Parts: sequence; structure tokens; C-alpha cells
Amino acid sequence: MVSPTVPLISVVIPLYNEGSHLRELLSDLREALQQTESRFEIIVIDDGSTDDTWAGIQDEARTLPTLRGIRLSRNFGKELALCAGLERARGDAIVVMDGDGQHPPSLLPTMIGTWRTSGADIVQAVKSKRGRESVTSKASALLFYVILNKLSGFELKGASDFKLINRKVLDTWLAMRERNVFFRGMTAWMGFSAIQIPFEVPARRGGKSHWSYLTRAKLALIGITTFSSFPLHFVTFAGVVFFIFAVGLGIQTLYLKLAGRAFTGFATVILLELIIGSLLMISLGIIGEYLARIYEEVKGRPRYIVSETIDLADGKDAASSPGNPEAQLMRHD
Ligand code: UDP
Ligand code: MG
Repeated sequence: MVSPTVPLISVVIPLYNEGSHLRELLSDLREALQQTESRFEIIVIDDGSTDDTWAGIQDEARTLPTLRGIRLSRNFGKELALCAGLERARGDAIVVMDGDGQHPPSLLPTMIGTWRTSGADIVQAVKSKRGRESVTSKASALLFYVILNKLSGFELKGASDFKLINRKVLDTWLAMRERNVFFRGMTAWMGFSAIQIPFEVPARRGGKSHWSYLTRAKLALIGITTFSSFPLHFVTFAGVVFFIFAVGLGIQTLYLKLAGRAFTGFATVILLELIIGSLLMISLGIIGEYLARIYEEVKGRPRYIVSETIDLADGKDAASSPGNPEAQLMRHD
């Protein structure tokens, strides 16, 4: 039996239709964790999968007592599935990773070792190579990070959701009660000391990536609107520029009129109509985006809904209410 002073590591993995390679993932994980001489718990969140992911989790839990399962009532998206896991993690350090084999479990001993020796609050695995991806997907990822870096002032390029955070970082993160979760950005925003470990992204084990351009664009929009108010300032800025321009043009028009030299100027009118019209619409859209974020926050709905849990280590958690962070926080006190 390992002594209780040995740190407890929680590994949190959101899963959506990853049933085909779940067994492999868990056995790799167990093997990697056993090398680290720490106690561990593995928390898997079934994010409303339509395949046999949950049946697989139930199966595995019979032989792996350190496995805890959470089943969400429907697909809530990776970020919220992560929340569900993080709120229930009991570890002194928490590792967050994908369940598709693109975040190799073999890196865990290094991450945990680095955490224990360096005392850093965050150990961040950084993509040294993005793995096999289409050119357009690489380009859109780059564009997203360039915009986000510029707007928010945080360096997020190469950042992945493969990281180890300590209890202090997790508790700070849990206190952030926003519904529009962007885990990568939020950890960057919190600061704390971080150490980076490079890793190469292997190909997916099975299944396919769940990100479409639409879901990526949605996450990008959440990332940008929750991390920067620059677009709103831009609306004001554009308004001022156009006002200055309007004053100049107004004076000229008035002068020509008084001098009796007014010309037809049809093209100018059309152009002004078009430019101002589209700018107004974009501005309204930008304000609408922020309004949507505010609306989602003030509704105050739970971030996700749990339908079932498996917790063989102790049965207490099975009845815990969904998304009740206070209860979770108190338990750690
Ligand atoms: N995932 C999830 N809910 C979703 C989409 C994805 O829990 O709605 C999980 C998925 O099972 C995987 C991780 O999030 O463990 C990363 O997803 P994916 O591999 O599709 O993303 P990519 O690597 O292509 O960015
Ligand atoms: Mg993946």
C-alpha cells in the first residue's frame, strides 16, 4: 500500500464517441501512471456519446477501481465536459487530456515528475508539431491564435488542453463561474508559474475529430468575446473616424453648394451608403455577440447536466447534484 503522503493525481478525460479505443487508452494510462509511484484516479466524462462509450466505461470500471465515470445527459461540448470532470477531481495535481490518443499517456510520467521536482503550478504540454492535419485546418488554427493573441495579449499558440495543474490552480479555476468556458484561455489568464514540455501530436487512434469548421468558429468566437473587448472599442473607433470624415465631406459639400458648383456625385453617395451600411451592421453584430454572452451568463443555468455517475472508490459522489461547485469546493476544504 502506498503511503497517503504520496500525491494523488487526477486524470480528467472528456470522451465523445471514443468507445472503439477506450480500453487501449485506459490500459496505456494505467501503465504510464504506475511508473510514477503516485496514487491516481481517472475521471472519464461521457459527453453524450451515441456509441458504446458509456458501456465501455462501465465495463472497465469493474476491473479498475480508480476509474470514475460521469455521464452527461447530452452532448455539451468538450469544454463543459471538462468542467464536469474538474469539479469532481480530488487530486493534488490534475492532468487534463484528450481521449483520442493524440495526447500520449506516455508523457504523463514526465509531466508528473516535472511537477514534483520543479514546484511549478502548471505543466503545459505544447505541440511541437501539430500532427496530421489539413492545410486549411492548420491555417484556421493559426489565424485564430493570431487574432486571439493580438486581442487578448495572451500567448496561446501551440497551447493544448494537455496539461497538469495543481490544486491551487484548480481551486482558482473553479471559482470562475462563467458559462462560456474556454479552458486554455482561462488558465493563461490566471497566470501562475508554468513549465512547458514539447510533444508531438500522434494521429487519432480511431473515430474522427469532432470539430467542424462551425464548432471551431463558435469556440473562436467565445474565445475572442470572453477574452477581449477590443471589437467593442473598434466600433467606437470606426464611428469616430467616420465622423471626422463626415465633417470634412460635409464642409466641402456645403461650400460647393453655396458656391453654386454642386455636382451630381452619384458614385460617392452609393459608396458611402454601402460602406456605412455594412459598417453599421457589423457593429450591431459585434454588440450582439457580447449581448449573447451576457445573456447566457445571466440565465444562470447549470453548465451541464449529469445523468449517471460511476464511483467505485467511494459511493458518495453518485448522488451529488450536477454542477454544484460549492459542494465540490467544500469537500476539498
Ligand atoms: N470531445 C468531447 N465532446 C465533444 C467533442 C469532443 O468530449 O463534443 C472530446 C473528444 O472525445 C476528445 C477531445 O474532446 O477526447 C478532443 O476532441 P477531438 O479529438 O475531436 O478534437 P481535435 O483533437 O480534433 O481538436
Ligand atoms: Mg483529437
